[in-house]
Amino acid sequence: MIALWCEHAWLGGDEAERGVRVEIEDGRIASVGVGASATDAERLAGLTIPGLANAHSHAFQRALRGRAQGHGSFWTWREQMYALAESIDPDGLRRLARATFAEMALAGITVVGEFHYLHHGPGGTPYADPNELGRTLIAAAAEAGIRIVLLDACYLHGGSARFRDASAEAWAERVSQLDGGAGAAIHSVRAVDPAAAAVVAQWAAECEAPLHAHVSEQPAENAFALERFGATPTALLDQAGALSERFTAIHVTHPAADDIALLGAAQANVCLCPTTERDLADGIGPARALADAGARLALGSDSHAVIDLLEEARAVELDERLASGERGRHGAAQLLGAATAGGYASLGLPHGGRIEPGALADLTTVALDSVRLAGAPPLDGAVFCAGAADVRHVIVGGRWVVRDGAHVSIDVARELREALAP
Ligand SMILES: [Zn+2]
Repeated sequence: MIALWCEHAWLGGDEAERGVRVEIEDGRIASVGVGASATDAERLAGLTIPGLANAHSHAFQRALRGRAQGHGSFWTWREQMYALAESIDPDGLRRLARATFAEMALAGITVVGEFHYLHHGPGGTPYADPNELGRTLIAAAAEAGIRIVLLDACYLHGGSARFRDASAEAWAERVSQLDGGAGAAIHSVRAVDPAAAAVVAQWAAECEAPLHAHVSEQPAENAFALERFGATPTALLDQAGALSERFTAIHVTHPAADDIALLGAAQANVCLCPTTERDLADGIGPARALADAGARLALGSDSHAVIDLLEEARAVELDERLASGERGRHGAAQLLGAATAGGYASLGLPHGGRIEPGALADLTTVALDSVRLAGAPPLDGAVFCAGAADVRHVIVGGRWVVRDGAHVSIDVARELREALAP
């Protein structure tokens, strides 16, 4: 049994609690006591929150950070991303993903949803193990000490041959060989036609697996779907049987009013990736309207232009302020809920992202004594003022992964430099 005493802890309410004892047994939280004594417990100074869930990641895109900032659009960035994807090999991916997932741990992230579509070797030739790169990502996350839900993406049309399976049936056969229960993804309605999307949705339903899809990130994606199939991406996915509480729509930056209603009625998850949406000039999604309709919000760092879930959380509110001319549309507790329980739920882990008995013992402690947080109240301070550099401790399944701001087993900056050396 591990006993921790948190100076402050956020248990889901509108304020943080002071003096919270958390006991951990077998990787789960066994008990939570507010106003408890610190006797016989390890003291965690600062604000302890549930581990942060990065619900949408493409680990290999970390290699584009700072290297794709010239004039252009989403579409010119995509050409650079395709070129990068052609250059990845299994050993390079292992080193890059391990370092990137370790960077996530340093940022307080305890679980990543890896939306994986770089499946095959050069020219689209499968590796001897057709799940070589998926298994590489799973192993890299284990080495970095964080949980991973591999969202294996069906990709049939366009893009690189390295992304594509021969059919949705071939995708299902390949993914079924991934023991340990992969999640599913439909890359997008551009890359997966409606009949194939229905096959993927059916597979996910039979496995009760989480199902993710990129949805309405760019107006041109909507225009393609309307012209080719006569419906919006969300409506096409609904017709394919994809929408449910297990479904997560990624981005939803440019939905129609009916799309918002469909996602809300299905109680689907919507994963916003605001730092990437800024970086790619996507736009600002209607987060308040989606939440009001019944959709549940989650967050992701997607392209890893930055890896900072606290920045993603406040961006939902701050970007919407710019678009709406109104403040306070999302409170700190709602934003932190999206960054924690919302993300775990979207990844099929409803027992994560909370500090309560029975929950996964995934915890992140944010320092409150930095120059950035001095004088700020714990919860609003952490959400609106703190960043990845303020994360002090991270525990995953009761095991220390980050202590006093350092990864327990990986020199993260060095491994990133080596993995990214030209
Ligand atoms: Zn993405």
